[in-house]
Amino acid sequence: DRYRGFHRNDLDKCIGCGRCEEICQNLAIGMVQVEDSQPVKGDSGLRPLVDYGRCCWCALCIDVCSTGSLSLSNSYSWTTYNADTCTYIPGTDEKSWDHTPKGYSQDNSILKWAGSPRIEMPAARPDKRVNSFEEVIRGYSPEQAAIEAARCIQCGLCVTACPAHMHIPEYLRAIADGDYAGAVKLFFDNNPLPEMCGKVCTRECESVCAMGYQGEAIAIRWLKRFACEQFESLSDVLAADEKPLEQGRGRVAIIGTGPAGLSAAYYLSRMGYEAHVFDKDEEGGGVAQHAIPEYRLPAAGSEKQMDVFRKAGAHFHFGTEVNGEDILKMSDDYDALFIAAGLQKSSEFKIPGVELAGVKHAFYFLMNKPEDGSIDVGARVLVIGGGNVAMDTARTCLRLGSEVVISYRRRIVDMPADEEEIEEAMEESIDFRPQTIPIRIEKAGQRLKYFYAEAEMIDDPNGGRPKPVRKDDIEHGIEIDTVFLAIGQSSDLGFLPDEIAENMTIQWGEIEVDKDQYTGVKNIYAGGDITPGAGDIITAIADGMRAAKAISKK
Ligand code: SF4
Ligand code: SF4
Repeated sequence: DRYRGFHRNDLDKCIGCGRCEEICQNLAIGMVQVEDSQPVKGDSGLRPLVDYGRCCWCALCIDVCSTGSLSLSNSYSWTTYNADTCTYIPGTDEKSWDHTPKGYSQDNSILKWAGSPRIEMPAARPDKRVNSFEEVIRGYSPEQAAIEAARCIQCGLCVTACPAHMHIPEYLRAIADGDYAGAVKLFFDNNPLPEMCGKVCTRECESVCAMGYQGEAIAIRWLKRFACEQFESLSDVLAADEKPLEQGRGRVAIIGTGPAGLSAAYYLSRMGYEAHVFDKDEEGGGVAQHAIPEYRLPAAGSEKQMDVFRKAGAHFHFGTEVNGEDILKMSDDYDALFIAAGLQKSSEFKIPGVELAGVKHAFYFLMNKPEDGSIDVGARVLVIGGGNVAMDTARTCLRLGSEVVISYRRRIVDMPADEEEIEEAMEESIDFRPQTIPIRIEKAGQRLKYFYAEAEMIDDPNGGRPKPVRKDDIEHGIEIDTVFLAIGQSSDLGFLPDEIAENMTIQWGEIEVDKDQYTGVKNIYAGGDITPGAGDIITAIADGMRAAKAISKK
């Protein structure tokens, strides 16, 4: 039954990781592009081609296959007059043994490659961490980081999934070898905010990691964080072998010091542009740095981060609110303009009672850095919403000593917040009330009363996500001191002069751009949350880098 004959491959399961090619001691496997399999996120589009002039049927390739897609049939007889034709791409070139049930696979292998377990990141205990704003994550030791980084099989699938296409296999190799400076230099090739990403990135890369198929994905984000934390100054690491900058290529004005603006400023400065960055805030980092609470992204890291941009040569103009006249003047005075103003407004929510004192916008609350306790939220807080702002507000209020309830219309699985944030909020004993439809808020003496109805989920006949529909006429009410609305943010494009805005395509408050972040208005580019996209930090960073490259090619 377990005879080792010719190869079969389930092409739908195969992700083209190349681990089979890597393990083969006889160089009998080569990864090749096949017509029906194009590179997509999490799949290289390559498939193994087997050369039977070299194969010795050891079956190591079967044992290590990341997905278990590759197997051996029990057929061993194949006659040909030309040895050069004794190669084929299992699964693509139809063979008589493709459907034979017998043979060797991971299901009957005793050597099946199970991978090694992920090194868990040390974190503060839930019952302890709710008493302070100290960072939850404690960081890897060098030994832990080396073991975790060495788990990477260097397949590179994660690179295409990362919006900035970071050099992930290479920097994991550097970390495994203890070359932390080398890893940091690789980060900056396409991400000038690695420490921020190392703490709060949405880690698209990990979602496609080949190691995740039969085990757990490599902790790519935590390893990036680890390497950055080995240095007090990242600019010193970069300065060690930085080439002299080419100067005088032009001047670019950048609106906003969030990840998109900072990224554009860094790469433009490195390419010899005078990058001037304007922000109405007094510090850089944008919403990402200011609205994410201390226990996830400590403010102390901000200066280390800004030092990189200053040393790269970017010029910052903080406390500068830009208006339509300024934009018109900038478009004359600068060679290009990059708009990365982010989402500055909290979305409105219409139920009776939202105008009452005690009903607040969660986004503005977080932007005001409430960690110092200067904002009194009372003994019991309700947060309406299911995104990261909702989780951050709930967990912040918990740390301020309040009891916290989260009300969300859909199921927990539908919440747009990071899975990790939801899990941590649950561990911290926040009271989740999913499938609850807000009805109204009333005054109840010194407090508020929040009324909601229970919802059931109804399938969408058009294939969309299930919709919450009120289950019955019963109204439930809970007494609350503060209600936070966390139902999304939107842009405020009021600073754009009409003559520029009219020539842009603006939909749902977002500026449409092409693949170079170009708005279609001469010399004006845009990126980050103000443009359509994933709305996360790494996508904004990639936008800034793309815009910088496009400006440099003008
Ligand atoms: S190891 Fe498995 S998943 Fe990876 S390329 Fe080979 S057959 Fe495909
Ligand atoms: S991190 Fe995962 S997906 Fe990326 S190269 Fe390593 S094993 Fe492959």
